[in-house]
Amino acid sequence: MAIIAVPQLADNYAYLVVDDASKECGVVDCSEAGKVLDAVKHHGLTLTAVMPTHYHYDHVGGNEDLVRAVPGLRVYGARAEGGRIPAETDPIADGDTVTVGALSGRVIGIPAHTNGHVAYYFPKLEAVFTGDTMFIAGCGRVFEGKAETMVASLARLAALPNATRVYCGHEYTVKNLQFALTLEPHNAALKAKHEWASKARAAGSFTVPSTIGEEKQINPFLRTASAELRASLKKIDPSIGNDPVTIFASTRALKDKF
Ligand code: FE
Ligand code: ZN
Repeated sequence: MAIIAVPQLADNYAYLVVDDASKECGVVDCSEAGKVLDAVKHHGLTLTAVMPTHYHYDHVGGNEDLVRAVPGLRVYGARAEGGRIPAETDPIADGDTVTVGALSGRVIGIPAHTNGHVAYYFPKLEAVFTGDTMFIAGCGRVFEGKAETMVASLARLAALPNATRVYCGHEYTVKNLQFALTLEPHNAALKAKHEWASKARAAGSFTVPSTIGEEKQINPFLRTASAELRASLKKIDPSIGNDPVTIFASTRALKDKF
């Protein structure tokens, strides 16, 4: 039970990262402290760390309540978020290490949705927490960077081992897959994933996690080299070239309106 998803708000996920030996856990992205603390208690764990991916309220809104309930709680916060992580105790930056019991996670700076957005990569768990940068079959909106910033951030995540499980910030999977199918209607992996995810949601199950290897097959924002995707974009804008950043930017612009 190394990773436990705790639904938050309408479609957010918090995740408990559990060190099985010590029963210590950390939480990635907490907006509703009550639900997180209930899960911690239910599983007989001790919460020692908060690991926010970025400063948006739906990822940190529960921090103040958590520190009130758990004295001495460590709250990591990316320096590049400019002090906007509530209750932050431990500033972090790209390349730093976070700890949960005997587990260590590597901080990967992945700006663009926000300037200080980070992922947490736990090699021992073969898992990465991607917040609002990489979703299953999608990516976050580019609020504070440029298209090329997001392309570089996604590339850093895509460079992790294929078996790495992807735990993202929102349950947006079905809608993302519907959008992806408009650009790659003949992508068999995409069609299969859409069918699977629709059934999972109808049954009330989560669609997290996917894997990095899977995302390379189904995520349009990692598929700027796909001939079918490029042809679909060319139908809309014949002047579009083959530059990956331009392809990404057009795909992102279409998704913003989808
Ligand atoms: Fe966000
Ligand atoms: Zn969010």
